[in-house]
Amino acid sequence: MEMRASIRRTGLSLLVFAGILSGCASAPVTGRQQFLLVSESDVNQLGAVTYQKELSGQPINRNPQQVAQVRRVGERIARVANRPDYKWEFNVIDEPQTINAFALPGGKVAVYSGLLNLGLSDDELAAVMGHEIAHAIAQHSRERVSQEVGLNLAMSVLGGGRISPATSQLINTAFGIGVELPFGRRQESEADLVGLDLMARAGYNPEAALSFWQKMMRASAGQPRPPQFLSSHPSDEARLAALRAAIPRYMPIYRQAHR
Ligand SMILES: [Zn+2]
Repeated sequence: MEMRASIRRTGLSLLVFAGILSGCASAPVTGRQQFLLVSESDVNQLGAVTYQKELSGQPINRNPQQVAQVRRVGERIARVANRPDYKWEFNVIDEPQTINAFALPGGKVAVYSGLLNLGLSDDELAAVMGHEIAHAIAQHSRERVSQEVGLNLAMSVLGGGRISPATSQLINTAFGIGVELPFGRRQESEADLVGLDLMARAGYNPEAALSFWQKMMRASAGQPRPPQFLSSHPSDEARLAALRAAIPRYMPIYRQAHR
């Protein structure tokens, strides 16, 4: 809405130009430059709405032990994520056949019981939470929404046409893709690194990331389709190698925090 009004005021190409100038930010830890056209508060609001939609009608929080573990680990990681403006929420969706977890912008986290049924230690669950919360604080969904909207604006400029009224709808769609479909490989590797940093600072052993991913890979072996959580991620070998190489950097942080 706000966007369409300002387009009329300033002209489309100017908006795109201004967006490129003001929309760049750096991802935490990796410092990678990001293109962010849509405001964080808009994306966080979309996160909250999507979360409510995802959870409604689902059987949630049936197993008190699983819920307690998810909240214990999640809240400890959220504290070091250093986003007091996020309204953190942690819930378990009771779906034993789904091996997955997600964190939406603004701090809305859900873990499926299928993932918890793998039997994870707190350190291993911290690897999941670290990775998912990393997606949220590195604003990967916002980046994705920005790319989709940016592309639409660029196409309108090239086509010389007006922006379709579906532009704001597109933001929703792009965001939905962030939930349903994989993040890009670069975002995945970044979430792995930021996740190691988060778990180490929260006092969880980063080496547990290796045993967690090995559990995931064993769970997926012999299945016709890999679990969602894996299918969207880099190849097993590449991921384990990158984690193995990165973990020593985070061990001193862990030892400091664990004392
Ligand atoms: Zn991921």
